[in-house]
Amino acid sequence: MIKINNVFFDEIINARHWLHENPELSYEEYATTKYIREKIQAWNLELKPFSSLKTGGYVDVGTGEKPVLGFRADIDALPIIENAGHSIKSKNLGVMHACGHDFHATIGLGLAKYFAQHPDELNGKLRILFQPAEETYPDGASYIHKEPLFENMIGIFAVHVDLRFKTGGIAIKQGTACASSTLLKLKFIGPGGHTSRPHATVDLIRVTSLYISQLNGYLKTIIDSRDDFTLVFGSIHGGQYHNIIPPEVSLIGTLRNFDNKVLKVLLEGIREFSLNFATLYKCQIEFDIPNSTPAIINDPKMYSALVQFSKENGYGARLVEMEKPSMGADDFAYYLKKVPGLYFQVGAEGSGSSHSSDFILTDDLIEPALDFIVNFVKFLINKPHHN
Ligand SMILES: [Zn+2]
Ligand SMILES: [Zn+2]
Repeated sequence: MIKINNVFFDEIINARHWLHENPELSYEEYATTKYIREKIQAWNLELKPFSSLKTGGYVDVGTGEKPVLGFRADIDALPIIENAGHSIKSKNLGVMHACGHDFHATIGLGLAKYFAQHPDELNGKLRILFQPAEETYPDGASYIHKEPLFENMIGIFAVHVDLRFKTGGIAIKQGTACASSTLLKLKFIGPGGHTSRPHATVDLIRVTSLYISQLNGYLKTIIDSRDDFTLVFGSIHGGQYHNIIPPEVSLIGTLRNFDNKVLKVLLEGIREFSLNFATLYKCQIEFDIPNSTPAIINDPKMYSALVQFSKENGYGARLVEMEKPSMGADDFAYYLKKVPGLYFQVGAEGSGSSHSSDFILTDDLIEPALDFIVNFVKFLINKPHHN
């Protein structure tokens, strides 16, 4: 266990309360960034800005230039009105930390503070990324991963708080941890016309519904049945009058799967299906993919390191192997294009479900999570392995 006294945690827990009370939406995390910068400065560290974004930033702590280990803490909140009955609640009406990113930012601050006080415990450097805009698209990480921050980095990890596991629990999934999520925007375009004469035009609502009902079936024929996916449309718009065939119908949805190579096959399949479908039904289909977050595939060596570390340091009983990956996505996946990565859940007590106004987590998770993570960082940076 790390020896951290109550004064250490008082400041960290107060920071969590401040962050929770002052949530900001994706790409608007200005006050959050200022707060993090001031805290970091008070510990004689420097929050450096990202060159591609106006909010967030990163801080280096430890001794020596390498190896570098990365930790990602996301800092944005959601457009949700928080339940007014909560004791610590948002002062920014309509914005709420309903995904626990206030805790992630707090863990980032806790790591910075701990290693600012004990830099000699790291024979290398920990780079903590306070990352904006995990909850929107384009993803914050889709910009940051292109910055030159990943040289000499042996790996990067991130955690997500999770109510399904007890406080102090660490839940990990070998292999794929989170699905990819690809946003699809489709526009069906036809001449429009009178509902009495659909044969003389393109009956666009009927054509769109045929497309929706047939696309999944087509995609099943082009992939291995073990590589399953979900393709669900969350929005359909078109038409406004009972006897007018509309000239336009739009669809928005998400495609999710677990394998980035299969995702390419699926997207190519959707393109080909759309092209042929449009020819057959004499309409136009415009196809746009504004965002595609890859799947998170945990690095086998980092996964083994987490298991080994847990068992050798008395955390074995807290470690849970998850049976299935999450169908949700996290833009942490972008960093894995640059360096090996590991994503795991930290157990949290509370109530409500994430992304809802009732979501509450208690401060109790901070101390055990930070204790685990501080020691895991030391284990990863200090063990003689580096390539
Ligand atoms: Zn979220
Ligand atoms: Zn989240």
